[in-house]
Amino acid sequence: MLKKRSAAAMLGLLLLGGLAVGLIALTGPSRDDAAVAGGLWPAGPAVGVEDGAIEEGEAVSPFADDLPAIAKLEPGLRSAMQDAARDAIADGIDFVVTSGWRSAAYQQSLLDAAVIEYGSAEVAGEFVLSPEQSKHVTGEAVDIGRTDADSWLSQHGADYGLCQIYANEMWHFELATSPDGECPTQLMNAGG
Ligand SMILES: [Zn+2]
Repeated sequence: MLKKRSAAAMLGLLLLGGLAVGLIALTGPSRDDAAVAGGLWPAGPAVGVEDGAIEEGEAVSPFADDLPAIAKLEPGLRSAMQDAARDAIADGIDFVVTSGWRSAAYQQSLLDAAVIEYGSAEVAGEFVLSPEQSKHVTGEAVDIGRTDADSWLSQHGADYGLCQIYANEMWHFELATSPDGECPTQLMNAGG
């Protein structure tokens, strides 16, 4: 009797052991896949403040010179942007930076995310440029919020040499003319 019960217990342990091995076999590979996928999306490569990253929906002061996103802007663009910000703020405008300088790795992660979101590299290219093409990576472009500040800049930006470059990006400004000059004709989008 005792022997029978212990044999049953042994069988139970064997079954449990087999189940555990089966579970490891089942979960093992998918965990590896998840780790590979996690390197691309949604977590992306680890980009942080030192890459110029500003979280989506967040914004920083145009005078935050301690942040790489602001500090690594091309000096001419940075001072033009800060001059404009001072005057806009004096006019009661809420003037913030939603994106400034970006590392190549950060730009690439934005492009990867856009390819997934839009379903093709071609469509994504209308909204996000490659690290080789983006003026954010060279520090020659800055994205401004809020909407009031964008409207203010579309009216007064050229006084500081700041121009909206793409018709579909009212927030994206580059130093594209001399102060009090005329801005070049806008491109339809980043892909055009
Ligand atoms: Zn931009």
